[in-house]
Amino acid sequence: MPHQVAAVSEIFSSLQGEGTHMGERHMFLRFEACNIHCEYCDELGKPGYDFDLDATLESLKRLDKEFGPHSYVSLTGGEPLLYVSFLKDLLPKLKEMRWRTYLETNGILWQALEQVISWTDLVAMDVKPASVTKERSFLKEHEAFLKIAVRKETFIKMVCSKEIDLGEFKELCEMIQNVITRHCPTGAIPILWNKINKWDCEDPKEIPRPSLRAPQSGAKQSLGLGTGSAISELGIASASTGTLPRNDGIRIPLILQPMSGEIEGHEDPELMRLLGELQTVGLGILQDVRIVPRLHKILKIR
Ligand code: SF4
Repeated sequence: MPHQVAAVSEIFSSLQGEGTHMGERHMFLRFEACNIHCEYCDELGKPGYDFDLDATLESLKRLDKEFGPHSYVSLTGGEPLLYVSFLKDLLPKLKEMRWRTYLETNGILWQALEQVISWTDLVAMDVKPASVTKERSFLKEHEAFLKIAVRKETFIKMVCSKEIDLGEFKELCEMIQNVITRHCPTGAIPILWNKINKWDCEDPKEIPRPSLRAPQSGAKQSLGLGTGSAISELGIASASTGTLPRNDGIRIPLILQPMSGEIEGHEDPELMRLLGELQTVGLGILQDVRIVPRLHKILKIR
Protein backbone atom coordinates (compact mmCIF):
# COMPACT_ATOMS: atom_id res chain seq x y z
CA MET A 1 0.00 0.00 0.00
CA PRO A 2 1.49 3.41 -0.90
CA HIS A 3 2.49 5.57 2.03
CA GLN A 4 0.61 8.72 2.89
CA VAL A 5 2.00 12.09 1.88
CA ALA A 6 1.92 15.21 4.04
CA ALA A 7 2.44 18.90 3.28
CA VAL A 8 5.56 19.77 5.26
CA SER A 9 6.75 23.39 5.48
CA GLU A 10 10.12 22.80 7.09
CA ILE A 11 12.28 20.26 8.93
CA PHE A 12 15.00 21.74 11.10
CA SER A 13 17.00 21.46 14.30
CA SER A 14 16.81 24.14 16.97
CA LEU A 15 16.15 24.79 20.63
CA GLN A 16 12.64 24.23 21.89
CA GLY A 17 11.47 27.78 22.53
CA GLU A 18 8.20 27.22 24.36
CA GLY A 19 6.79 25.46 27.37
CA THR A 20 8.25 23.17 29.98
CA HIS A 21 10.98 21.70 27.75
CA MET A 22 12.37 25.06 26.69
CA GLY A 23 16.06 24.99 25.83
CA GLU A 24 16.21 21.33 24.81
CA ARG A 25 17.47 20.52 21.34
CA HIS A 26 14.64 19.26 19.17
CA MET A 27 14.11 18.27 15.56
CA PHE A 28 11.06 20.13 14.27
CA LEU A 29 8.73 18.79 11.61
CA ARG A 30 6.35 21.58 10.66
CA PHE A 31 3.11 20.73 8.84
CA GLU A 32 1.55 23.31 6.59
CA ALA A 33 -2.18 23.60 7.19
CA CYS A 34 -4.31 24.45 10.21
CA ASN A 35 -8.00 23.90 10.94
CA ILE A 36 -8.48 27.35 12.48
CA HIS A 37 -7.11 30.83 11.90
CA CYS A 38 -5.94 32.68 15.01
CA GLU A 39 -5.69 36.42 14.46
CA TYR A 40 -2.11 36.52 15.72
CA CYS A 41 -0.78 33.47 13.84
CA ASP A 42 2.72 33.90 12.44
CA GLU A 43 3.02 30.38 11.00
CA LEU A 44 0.27 30.18 8.39
CA GLY A 45 1.29 31.02 4.86
CA LYS A 46 4.53 29.04 4.93
CA PRO A 47 4.20 26.84 1.83
CA GLY A 48 4.25 23.07 2.26
CA TYR A 49 5.95 20.46 0.11
CA ASP A 50 4.81 16.86 -0.33
CA PHE A 51 6.83 14.54 1.87
CA ASP A 52 6.21 10.82 2.05
CA LEU A 53 7.29 8.64 4.94
CA ASP A 54 10.69 7.72 3.51
CA ALA A 55 11.62 11.30 2.61
CA THR A 56 10.60 12.49 6.08
CA LEU A 57 12.60 9.81 7.88
CA GLU A 58 15.66 10.41 5.69
CA SER A 59 15.54 14.15 6.45
CA LEU A 60 15.27 13.49 10.18
CA LYS A 61 18.13 10.99 10.14
CA ARG A 62 20.37 13.45 8.30
CA LEU A 63 19.47 16.22 10.73
CA ASP A 64 20.11 14.04 13.77
CA LYS A 65 23.47 12.93 12.39
CA GLU A 66 24.52 16.51 11.76
CA PHE A 67 23.12 18.27 14.83
CA GLY A 68 22.18 15.50 17.29
CA PRO A 69 21.59 14.24 19.81
CA HIS A 70 18.07 15.61 20.06
CA SER A 71 15.70 15.24 22.99
CA TYR A 72 12.53 14.99 20.89
CA VAL A 73 11.09 15.02 17.41
CA SER A 74 8.63 17.89 17.69
CA LEU A 75 5.60 17.70 15.41
CA THR A 76 4.36 21.22 14.93
CA GLY A 77 2.44 23.37 12.49
CA GLY A 78 -0.03 24.42 11.41
CA GLU A 79 -1.88 21.58 13.05
CA PRO A 80 -0.12 18.19 12.89
CA LEU A 81 -3.30 16.27 13.74
CA LEU A 82 -4.81 17.29 10.40
CA TYR A 83 -2.36 14.71 9.01
CA VAL A 84 -3.45 11.86 11.26
CA SER A 85 -3.19 9.17 8.54
CA PHE A 86 0.41 10.19 7.88
CA LEU A 87 1.17 10.31 11.62
CA LYS A 88 -0.14 6.77 12.04
CA ASP A 89 2.59 5.68 9.61
CA LEU A 90 5.28 8.02 10.90
CA LEU A 91 5.01 7.81 14.68
CA PRO A 92 5.64 4.04 15.01
CA LYS A 93 8.74 4.50 12.82
CA LEU A 94 10.00 7.30 15.08
CA LYS A 95 9.54 5.03 18.09
CA GLU A 96 11.46 2.26 16.29
CA MET A 97 14.28 4.78 15.91
CA ARG A 98 14.06 5.32 19.69
CA TRP A 99 13.18 8.99 19.27
CA ARG A 100 10.79 10.60 21.71
CA THR A 101 7.79 12.30 20.13
CA TYR A 102 6.46 15.74 21.10
CA LEU A 103 3.10 16.85 19.71
CA GLU A 104 2.47 20.61 19.50
CA THR A 105 -1.22 21.02 18.86
CA ASN A 106 -4.07 23.49 19.10
CA GLY A 107 -5.92 21.00 21.29
CA ILE A 108 -9.08 20.73 19.21
CA LEU A 109 -8.98 17.54 17.08
CA TRP A 110 -9.50 15.07 19.91
CA GLN A 111 -10.67 12.22 17.64
CA ALA A 112 -7.32 12.38 15.81
CA LEU A 113 -5.40 12.51 19.10
CA GLU A 114 -7.10 9.30 20.22
CA GLN A 115 -5.64 7.56 17.15
CA VAL A 116 -2.01 8.56 17.84
CA ILE A 117 -1.76 9.02 21.62
CA SER A 118 -0.14 5.62 22.15
CA TRP A 119 2.94 6.71 20.11
CA THR A 120 3.08 10.21 21.61
CA ASP A 121 5.41 10.90 24.53
CA LEU A 122 4.45 14.48 25.26
CA VAL A 123 1.45 16.66 24.39
CA ALA A 124 2.03 20.41 24.26
CA MET A 125 -1.57 21.51 24.06
CA ASP A 126 -2.86 24.99 23.34
CA VAL A 127 -6.09 26.28 24.78
CA LYS A 128 -7.50 29.09 22.69
CA PRO A 129 -9.47 31.94 24.29
CA ALA A 130 -11.86 33.33 21.67
CA SER A 131 -11.22 36.82 23.03
CA VAL A 132 -7.59 36.46 21.87
CA THR A 133 -7.85 34.37 18.69
CA LYS A 134 -11.08 36.01 17.38
CA GLU A 135 -12.15 32.47 16.50
CA ARG A 136 -15.12 30.75 18.19
CA SER A 137 -14.77 29.14 21.62
CA PHE A 138 -13.31 25.62 21.62
CA LEU A 139 -14.02 24.91 25.29
CA LYS A 140 -15.83 21.59 24.66
CA GLU A 141 -13.21 20.36 22.18
CA HIS A 142 -10.39 21.34 24.56
CA GLU A 143 -12.05 19.41 27.38
CA ALA A 144 -12.43 16.23 25.28
CA PHE A 145 -8.86 16.63 24.06
CA LEU A 146 -7.34 17.10 27.51
CA LYS A 147 -9.08 13.99 28.85
CA ILE A 148 -7.08 11.98 26.29
CA ALA A 149 -3.84 13.98 26.53
CA VAL A 150 -3.43 13.44 30.28
CA ARG A 151 -2.58 9.79 29.64
CA LYS A 152 0.85 11.15 28.70
CA GLU A 153 3.09 13.98 29.86
CA THR A 154 1.11 17.11 29.10
CA PHE A 155 1.39 20.85 29.52
CA ILE A 156 -1.02 23.51 28.37
CA LYS A 157 -0.10 26.78 26.71
CA MET A 158 -2.32 29.82 26.40
CA VAL A 159 -1.25 32.77 24.27
CA CYS A 160 -2.51 35.90 26.03
CA SER A 161 -3.06 39.39 24.68
CA LYS A 162 -4.34 42.51 26.39
CA GLU A 163 -7.78 41.69 24.94
CA ILE A 164 -8.20 38.49 26.94
CA ASP A 165 -11.55 38.23 28.71
CA LEU A 166 -11.13 37.44 32.42
CA GLY A 167 -14.38 35.45 32.61
CA GLU A 168 -13.30 33.29 29.68
CA PHE A 169 -9.86 32.80 31.25
CA LYS A 170 -11.40 31.57 34.50
CA GLU A 171 -13.76 29.25 32.63
CA LEU A 172 -10.79 27.67 30.80
CA CYS A 173 -8.85 27.28 34.06
CA GLU A 174 -11.86 25.65 35.71
CA MET A 175 -12.23 23.23 32.80
CA ILE A 176 -8.56 22.27 33.12
CA GLN A 177 -8.85 21.75 36.88
CA ASN A 178 -12.00 19.70 36.40
CA VAL A 179 -10.24 17.35 33.97
CA ILE A 180 -7.22 17.06 36.29
CA THR A 181 -9.46 16.22 39.23
CA ARG A 182 -11.61 13.68 37.39
CA HIS A 183 -9.18 12.10 34.96
CA CYS A 184 -5.75 12.06 36.65
CA PRO A 185 -5.64 9.36 39.34
CA THR A 186 -4.64 10.73 42.74
CA GLY A 187 -1.09 9.86 43.62
CA ALA A 188 0.11 9.50 40.05
CA ILE A 189 1.78 12.19 38.01
CA PRO A 190 1.23 12.59 34.26
CA ILE A 191 4.93 12.43 33.43
CA LEU A 192 5.44 9.14 31.68
CA TRP A 193 8.63 8.43 29.84
CA ASN A 194 9.39 6.06 26.95
CA LYS A 195 7.57 2.76 26.88
CA ILE A 196 5.21 3.61 29.72
CA ASN A 197 1.83 4.07 28.15
CA LYS A 198 -0.56 3.79 31.01
CA TRP A 199 -1.12 4.74 34.63
CA ASP A 200 0.93 1.90 35.99
CA CYS A 201 3.18 3.71 38.42
CA GLU A 202 1.92 5.03 41.73
CA ASP A 203 5.27 6.11 43.09
CA PRO A 204 7.06 8.77 41.00
CA LYS A 205 10.42 7.40 42.23
CA GLU A 206 9.69 4.19 40.33
CA ILE A 207 9.29 5.93 37.00
CA PRO A 208 12.41 5.35 34.88
CA ARG A 209 14.10 8.53 33.76
CA PRO A 210 14.78 9.11 30.07
CA SER A 211 18.28 8.41 28.87
CA LEU A 212 19.42 10.50 25.98
CA ARG A 213 21.55 8.86 23.37
CA ALA A 214 25.24 9.62 23.62
CA PRO A 215 26.54 12.37 21.31
CA GLN A 216 28.00 11.03 18.11
CA SER A 217 31.67 11.73 17.78
CA GLY A 218 32.33 14.62 15.47
CA ALA A 219 28.69 15.71 15.50
CA LYS A 220 28.27 19.41 14.83
CA GLN A 221 26.93 21.21 17.86
CA SER A 222 26.32 24.62 16.35
CA LEU A 223 22.74 25.78 15.92
CA GLY A 224 23.73 29.14 14.51
CA LEU A 225 22.46 31.09 17.50
CA GLY A 226 22.11 34.79 16.81
CA THR A 227 22.85 37.62 19.21
CA GLY A 228 20.80 37.08 22.34
CA SER A 229 19.14 39.50 24.72
CA ALA A 230 18.39 38.76 28.35
CA ILE A 231 15.11 39.42 30.12
CA SER A 232 15.67 41.81 32.98
CA GLU A 233 13.02 43.91 34.69
CA LEU A 234 9.61 42.78 33.50
CA GLY A 235 7.47 44.64 35.99
CA ILE A 236 5.21 41.64 36.57
CA ALA A 237 2.47 42.15 39.11
CA SER A 238 3.00 40.05 42.23
CA ALA A 239 1.37 36.64 41.98
CA SER A 240 2.29 35.55 45.47
CA THR A 241 -0.40 36.20 48.04
CA GLY A 242 0.44 33.41 50.45
CA THR A 243 1.28 29.74 50.49
CA LEU A 244 -0.10 27.97 47.45
CA PRO A 245 -1.95 24.70 47.94
CA ARG A 246 0.42 21.91 46.90
CA ASN A 247 -1.14 18.52 47.31
CA ASP A 248 -0.78 15.27 45.46
CA GLY A 249 1.89 15.89 42.86
CA ILE A 250 -0.51 16.20 39.93
CA ARG A 251 1.05 18.74 37.67
CA ILE A 252 -0.27 19.89 34.33
CA PRO A 253 1.42 23.27 34.02
CA LEU A 254 -0.48 26.10 32.39
CA ILE A 255 1.97 28.31 30.50
CA LEU A 256 0.84 31.89 29.89
CA GLN A 257 2.70 33.14 26.83
CA PRO A 258 2.65 36.86 25.98
CA MET A 259 1.35 37.49 22.47
CA SER A 260 3.69 39.26 20.13
CA GLY A 261 2.55 42.22 18.09
CA GLU A 262 4.76 44.90 16.66
CA ILE A 263 7.09 44.21 19.55
CA GLU A 264 7.70 40.91 21.28
CA GLY A 265 5.13 40.36 24.02
CA HIS A 266 7.66 40.11 26.83
CA GLU A 267 8.90 43.61 25.95
CA ASP A 268 5.46 45.13 26.68
CA PRO A 269 5.31 46.09 30.40
CA GLU A 270 1.52 46.51 30.34
CA LEU A 271 0.99 43.02 28.93
CA MET A 272 3.44 41.52 31.41
CA ARG A 273 1.59 43.20 34.31
CA LEU A 274 -1.69 41.76 32.99
CA LEU A 275 -0.11 38.31 32.79
CA GLY A 276 0.90 38.63 36.42
CA GLU A 277 -2.74 39.31 37.30
CA LEU A 278 -3.89 36.33 35.23
CA GLN A 279 -1.34 34.16 36.99
CA THR A 280 -2.75 35.23 40.35
CA VAL A 281 -6.29 34.39 39.21
CA GLY A 282 -5.13 31.10 37.65
CA LEU A 283 -3.31 30.04 40.81
CA GLY A 284 -6.60 30.37 42.67
CA ILE A 285 -7.84 27.46 40.52
CA LEU A 286 -4.79 25.49 39.32
CA GLN A 287 -1.61 24.23 40.96
CA ASP A 288 0.94 25.38 38.40
CA VAL A 289 0.61 28.53 36.31
CA ARG A 290 3.75 30.01 34.74
CA ILE A 291 4.54 33.05 32.60
CA VAL A 292 6.95 32.02 29.86
CA PRO A 293 7.87 34.11 26.81
CA ARG A 294 9.24 32.39 23.72
CA LEU A 295 12.95 31.63 24.10
CA HIS A 296 13.68 31.45 20.38
CA LYS A 297 12.33 34.97 19.90
CA ILE A 298 14.55 36.26 22.72
CA LEU A 299 17.61 34.48 21.31
CA LYS A 300 16.63 35.43 17.75
CA ILE A 301 16.96 31.90 16.46
CA ARG A 302 14.61 29.87 14.29
S1 SF4 B 1 -3.71 27.08 15.93
FE1 SF4 B 1 -1.54 27.65 15.74
S2 SF4 B 1 -1.03 27.32 13.57
FE2 SF4 B 1 -3.28 27.32 13.74
S3 SF4 B 1 -3.87 29.43 13.27
FE3 SF4 B 1 -3.69 29.27 15.50
S4 SF4 B 1 -1.56 29.88 15.97
FE4 SF4 B 1 -1.68 29.44 13.75
